[in-house]
Amino acid sequence: MEIVSNVQEIKALIKAFRTKNPTAKIGFVPTMGALHEGHLSLIQTAKKQADFVVVSIFVNPTQFNDDSDLEKYPRTLEADISLLQKNLCDAVFAPSESEIYPFKNRAYEIDLGGLDKVLEGKYRPGHFEGVCMVVERLFEIVEPDIAFFGIKDFQQVAIIKHMVKKRGIDVEIVPCPIKRDDFGLALSSRNMLLTPEQKIEALILFKTLSKGKELFFKGESAEKIRVEMLKIFKSSSLRLEYVEIVDNVSLKSVDKIHENCSICIAAYCGEIRLIDNIQLALSN
Ligand code: AMP
Repeated sequence: MEIVSNVQEIKALIKAFRTKNPTAKIGFVPTMGALHEGHLSLIQTAKKQADFVVVSIFVNPTQFNDDSDLEKYPRTLEADISLLQKNLCDAVFAPSESEIYPFKNRAYEIDLGGLDKVLEGKYRPGHFEGVCMVVERLFEIVEPDIAFFGIKDFQQVAIIKHMVKKRGIDVEIVPCPIKRDDFGLALSSRNMLLTPEQKIEALILFKTLSKGKELFFKGESAEKIRVEMLKIFKSSSLRLEYVEIVDNVSLKSVDKIHENCSICIAAYCGEIRLIDNIQLALSN
């Protein structure tokens, strides 16, 4: 496994591989590090579908709308690298901020067709522009054939798909299922910041989502499901930001629930903001 921090080097590495293997597929898994089994599951999927897998580790400042969140974000590069060494990716790209954003007065604009105005977008202004900015830059550097993103960040997947279409970037976006711990908590780098007690309290997210899905299969209306989910959530000490039943394509809240919907939730567990979702059509 090659470990590279510089743009020219990673480009050269990929170019050399492509020259030797002209029909090979380059797979790409962008991350912000503090790696866990969720990230590793993306890499395993990438290994099955691509011939050369690049994992990037970069805590992207432009997607943080809260300075203290950026400051607190866990950074565990050494541990990440040793984990990757055991998980067979081909190259790790761990650049500095100046490699990714060489120009100080960086400007970035993209019309996300309103997908960025709902769910997370309402609470994290500018977040998705920041995500698109870094992913577009990383795609420009790595030029992957296939890129892997977790449905854990459900809205992000929809927005990245929109972005590549809009920009005409020739890359296949593969959504990957959510990895949870044995009790149902969606794995997240931010979970490292939770106390053991908070990790138990945070299970309310998945409990609320699971109840919503159960009621959907019992034929209950969106309105009734919302009421019941709120009742369950209220039993916890977490501070709810939103729980919404949305259409998978428009990401808008629905009046009539159907199979192509997801239930999305965001809440604070102490100071730590957690998100999760459940797809009504999938068995997650
Ligand atoms: P992050 O490092 O949080 O930016 O995540 C990097 C990638 O891993 C994103 O595509 C995430 O959606 C994905 N990811 C994060 N947590 C999970 C999880 N629990 N299961 C599956 N994928 C995940």
